[in-house]
Amino acid sequence: MTPIHEPGAARRKLVVGNWKMNGGHGANAELLAALQAAGPWVAEVAVCPPFPYLAEVALSLQGSSIAWGAQDCSAHDSGAYTGEVSAAMVAEFGCRYVIVGHSERRALHGESDQLVADKAKAALAHRLTPIVCVGETLAERAAGQTTEVVKRQMSVVVHTLAHCISQVVVAYEPVWAIGTGKTATPEEAQAVHALLRAQLKAATAHAGDMKILYGGSVKGDNAAALFGQADIDGGLIGGASLKAADFAAICRAAA
Ligand code: PEP
Repeated sequence: MTPIHEPGAARRKLVVGNWKMNGGHGANAELLAALQAAGPWVAEVAVCPPFPYLAEVALSLQGSSIAWGAQDCSAHDSGAYTGEVSAAMVAEFGCRYVIVGHSERRALHGESDQLVADKAKAALAHRLTPIVCVGETLAERAAGQTTEVVKRQMSVVVHTLAHCISQVVVAYEPVWAIGTGKTATPEEAQAVHALLRAQLKAATAHAGDMKILYGGSVKGDNAAALFGQADIDGGLIGGASLKAADFAAICRAAA
């Protein structure tokens, strides 16, 4: 696997919109037109639509400053895996990113830490940058297990990718903050980002250049404080990425 980060792009803030299972031809066109009119931004910006819309999103965003990606990929390259979409297929649509290990996939589809790591490996093999999500549930946080959980999730990815770990983007997304309106305070988020960076430092000399995004109810009015933390390099945005004005405000906050 060869390095795919652009030189000089390290630690430039990154804001990624995860559209989840939302959208439609008309709504997508409207949203993308409004976003392109609102940009460009100092931060790098990307959107991750559902698979069926990748072609039209690619067509709309080609030549713009906004990148695009997928919300998941298979760990397998091809074969009898009904319903799955390979990293090679995603790459054919010009995607730069693919989200892997989102908590909704871990919870609703039973994805294990190892499967998430294997998906990240498949993505890298096709020159996609995996955005690897980690995060604890409310029960785990209440039990004082946040550190243990995110380190365990991360360590399987570190072990599986070995020296290629520096090529991933990490997203810390506390499960209790996703779609709930409850956000980790900037200090709470920073504490977890710092421990993730320390864990990555033990694995690669390039950890200081790696992007660690925060996700979980980021909005225009809390984004700047979160993104101002030393180890928070941008955001993975769900609900607020579906409204151009809201997403643009978050992108502006990532200056
Ligand atoms: C997400 O789904 O990755 C997410 C962070 O969602 P929200 O911004 O809606 O909490």
